[in-house]
Amino acid sequence: MPKEMTVCPHCGEKSARRVLTNLNVDKEPGLREAVQDLSCFRWMCPNCGVSSLVVDPCLYHDMTNQFMVWLSPEGRPQEVGGFDPLAGYTLRYVDDLNAFREKINVLERGLDDRAVELMKLLLLFQLHRDLDVVELLFHALDEQDGTFTFVAVLSDGAEQYISMPGDTYRRLAADVNERLFTNNREFQKINLDWAKEALELLHS
Ligand SMILES: [Zn+2]
Repeated sequence: MPKEMTVCPHCGEKSARRVLTNLNVDKEPGLREAVQDLSCFRWMCPNCGVSSLVVDPCLYHDMTNQFMVWLSPEGRPQEVGGFDPLAGYTLRYVDDLNAFREKINVLERGLDDRAVELMKLLLLFQLHRDLDVVELLFHALDEQDGTFTFVAVLSDGAEQYISMPGDTYRRLAADVNERLFTNNREFQKINLDWAKEALELLHS
């Protein structure tokens, strides 16, 4: 792993830190949990012993479920060399840690993240009437009855869990597949902004 000099936000001392670049969960299964609990982004300063979150641009690769997600805070990531995009992979990029964890959660369940973002947009339309939602994330899928659960983070920091039936997902996934084209040969950003544009296209 490459190293980089990093300034500790606590004591201001500069130290060498290993930089994250590739996260291959098939080669290192423990990484999956380390991304979800953020432990792989924690860095402990050798000078003062205080740990802080440090986000490196990195590529998450799940070979079993055939997807890659770039965590790329600076925008569109570099293309991945020596990789055949025709292999049926889903390629995505995101710019923050919450979106990174959420995208992985969605794609490893074999879900169409485009339909999930559309569900979130519809949910936001409903919630905004009563609540001040600052972030809305996919939380869980009930394998028994197919119900989706989302978590809304409110402006006062409180969290609210909201369910949506699996039928909504199936309807949206069918619409998206029939009527929208997503280029699978390069990394795409599929988020709420994408969903707003997609909803207009679907309604046109
Ligand atoms: Zn320090």
